[in-house]
Amino acid sequence: MNLFRIRGIQLAVHFSFFLLLAFAAQEGWQDDGWSGLLWGVGTLVAFFTCVVLHELGHSFTAMHFGIGVRRILLMPIGGMAEFDDIPRQPSRELLITLAGPAVNFLIVAVLWIAVGFPAGWPLSDFTADATGFAQLLLHWNLIMGCFNLVPVFPMDGGRILRALLATRMQYLRATFWAASVGKVLAVIGALGALFLFHTWLTAVLFAFIFYAGEMEYRAVRRREIEDAHWRAVLARAYAASLTPPPAEDPPVLAP
Ligand SMILES: [Zn+2]
Repeated sequence: MNLFRIRGIQLAVHFSFFLLLAFAAQEGWQDDGWSGLLWGVGTLVAFFTCVVLHELGHSFTAMHFGIGVRRILLMPIGGMAEFDDIPRQPSRELLITLAGPAVNFLIVAVLWIAVGFPAGWPLSDFTADATGFAQLLLHWNLIMGCFNLVPVFPMDGGRILRALLATRMQYLRATFWAASVGKVLAVIGALGALFLFHTWLTAVLFAFIFYAGEMEYRAVRRREIEDAHWRAVLARAYAASLTPPPAEDPPVLAP
């Protein structure tokens, strides 16, 4: 569902997002009636506003480099900005990717100055007032910023690692190594989740991360093959246009 546009970027929410909203409202209602409902919905909306700001960080930086951004899609698992074209210049990809977590750390800094750091972090108790609300947002933004820096696809950290590697090697090779690092970390994470914490749901999440790394590598490889194909076609066409017609061909005369 399309919501509104921000500097030309369409903000859209996935249908399942409303299920999450209904769930938060219901949980809040059961906890504490109307005020619980307001708190549940309010904190969820504030959280996803921060997700949108994170995506806008990526988007505005991309637009600064002349890359079009079609829309930002919000899903219960997070947000996603859809670019017209992924830049192949490592320095640009690095800046575009860093801008997302940078927004989260900026929010953390502003809230830290405004209301102070939550006591007992990361296991803080948040009071149901304005200070608690602000500290809860600080807590979430700190986690969102750090989590996104973990060097695995589809998180920003995977792209940051790829961009850093791409300054020293071919783009496809950099993607291969970045995806491989992500896959190894995903396997370690999945094993830890299964055998140390016995949470199969987290293991499923790591399986998804493993899969995302493989998909990213395949997408880049496919594009690389297509690009090489078109370069060859263009080179042939260019070479053909430079070749003079065979001498035995009679000159074409106008009637
Ligand atoms: Zn991001």
